Amino acid sequence: MSQITDNITDIRQEIADTCKKLGKKPEEVQLIAVTKTIEPERINEAIANGITDIGENKVQEIMDKYTLVSPINWHMIGHLQTNKVKYIIDKVKLIHSLDRISLAEEIQKRAERINRAVDVLVQVNIGQEETKSGIEPDEVYDFVAALRPFSYIQVKGLMTVAPYKEDPEEVRPYFNTMKEVFERIRAKNLPGIEMKYLSMGMTNDYKVAIEEGANIIRVGTAIFGSRIYRK
Ligand SMILES: *Cc1c(COP(=O)(O)O)cnc(C)c1O
Repeated sequence: MSQITDNITDIRQEIADTCKKLGKKPEEVQLIAVTKTIEPERINEAIANGITDIGENKVQEIMDKYTLVSPINWHMIGHLQTNKVKYIIDKVKLIHSLDRISLAEEIQKRAERINRAVDVLVQVNIGQEETKSGIEPDEVYDFVAALRPFSYIQVKGLMTVAPYKEDPEEVRPYFNTMKEVFERIRAKNLPGIEMKYLSMGMTNDYKVAIEEGANIIRVGTAIFGSRIYRK
């Protein structure tokens, strides 16, 4: 068996074990394989091993790989420049990184043009880190509420990239706060706003993320090994 096959088997097992402890079904947690810098052949290998959803953080990579990868669900998980929305609007299943109104305006405009509503998650900067994008935790509710008039944008939940900590236990409080923010907004029952997906947890901390309520995890390194960044 190849390394990718082994890795996916291990992760699925880990998801199943964690879900079992929580009294959840493993299908309730969606695994997104993060394929940035990974070449199409290896992505297709992951797909052959049951991966149905892949995440990229750059528009260019989605465009480069789009026709080379077996039909699959694409997720935009990285910072999205407004002028690049038009390239991916008809390609992605879910945009995880809505973090400003100007971006919502552009998504609305492009989605209207192809007459197709687009599912989005609102990105939250849960660690309030200078280097990360996302809405501040205290402002998420107002931001989500402000998205209601956007008829071609369907808010489906929240996403975060938590601060990196060697010990995933140190990330737990951030995930816990995310879940609180998520539940608080859900309880408001805003018309047109669905709090269905909580996208959080990566290679180092996905298990803790699931324990704290993630139902989408985004895993790259644990599937494909370390990334090699080329110029
Ligand atoms: C790269 C990336 C991941 C996956 O990170 P790994 O540590 O390799 O699992 C998840 N989410 C986002 C937004 C990323 O950019």
